[in-house]
Formats: sequence, C-alpha cells, structure tokens
Amino acid sequence: MPPSVALLPRNSAGRPVPGNVAWYEPDDDGSILVTRDTELGGHITCPCTPGNGTARFGEQCPVRQRQFMAQRRCGLCTQGIEPTAQLVFIGEANAPYYLEPPLHPLCAAYALQVCPALHAAGESIEVALTHSYALAEDRITGVSADGTLRRSVFPFHDLAARLLAVLEFYLAFPDTPERLTGSKWLAQGAPKLLP
Ligand SMILES: [Zn+2]
Ligand SMILES: [Zn+2]
Repeated sequence: MPPSVALLPRNSAGRPVPGNVAWYEPDDDGSILVTRDTELGGHITCPCTPGNGTARFGEQCPVRQRQFMAQRRCGLCTQGIEPTAQLVFIGEANAPYYLEPPLHPLCAAYALQVCPALHAAGESIEVALTHSYALAEDRITGVSADGTLRRSVFPFHDLAARLLAVLEFYLAFPDTPERLTGSKWLAQGAPKLLP
C-alpha cells in the first residue's frame, strides 16, 4: 500500500477509503444540496467529512471530486500530482473523458490490484497515461417528468452555464493519452509496489 494511502480513513472492514468517496452520517437524508456563488454559479455542495459516518464506495463527493480535478490532486490518496509528472486515469476502454480524478501511477497500480469493482471489471478496464488534461463541466439542466436528471456538458468556466445549469462534477479529457488495459499496464509499465 502506498504510504499516503495508508494514512486515509478506513471503513468498518479496515479498508482505506479513497479521497473522492462520499461519506454519509446517520442523520443524512440523502437530499441533494444546491447552492450558488459567483465562481461556480449554481452548484451541488456536500457537507461530508472523510472518516465521519459510512463510506459509500462507488459514489463520489462532488465537492472533493471538483477540488481534485481542478487542483490536479490524486483521487485516491488526495495528494497533489507534480505539474510535469505522468498521471493515470482508470475507466472503460477508449473513454473520451473521465469522471474519476487523476491518480499517481503508484496509487493507480494499487487501486487496480485491490479495488473489487476494478478487479471484477477485468479486461474491460483501461488506463489512460498522460501528463495533462483539460476540464469540462457536467451540469444538471433540469428534471424529466419521470424524475431523472437531465445533464449537459459545458466548457470549463463557461459564463452562461453558471446561470443555466447546476454544476455537479468536472470531466477530465486527457491530452494525447497512451491507452492500454489495466492488466497489461500492471504487467509491463506500472510502478511496482514493494511487498
Ligand atoms: Zn461530500
Ligand atoms: Zn495518490
């Protein structure tokens, strides 16, 4: 386990909880909290604190997701990624963009080996290796009659979008990524975790 991952809060099973995972406290009724400011316009906020309550694996905290994306911080260990360093996105094959923040190569190698969801997805999981990425905004534009949220992708910091729609997540578009399956990367190029 990378040292920075060992410092993360744990779930009840003793597993380190990635920094982007949402936490729920017992009094949380699950409602979506919308607020507004001049920087983001309408946006979804979240009061959760890592380590308090129950971790919901598979669900990202929108506040930390946006921080990590915008500040080039690792979605697993939460630490910054050096401006010139290689970084890793994990997702489906040929994904045009990623909803999960970038990872340090060592953190990505660890996640691929221990995360049950990634392990179950097997060969359909691909890594995108790059040194930089561009951001866009995933915003909620309305609610359909059946209650599902309508969403659209807007340019990063788009002024009109701040008035029209509610920001939830940032999307990362990797610059000229090198793509390979997770298992091939682990076998060939990924940093090795010391036993
Ligand atoms: Zn949260
Ligand atoms: Zn990391």
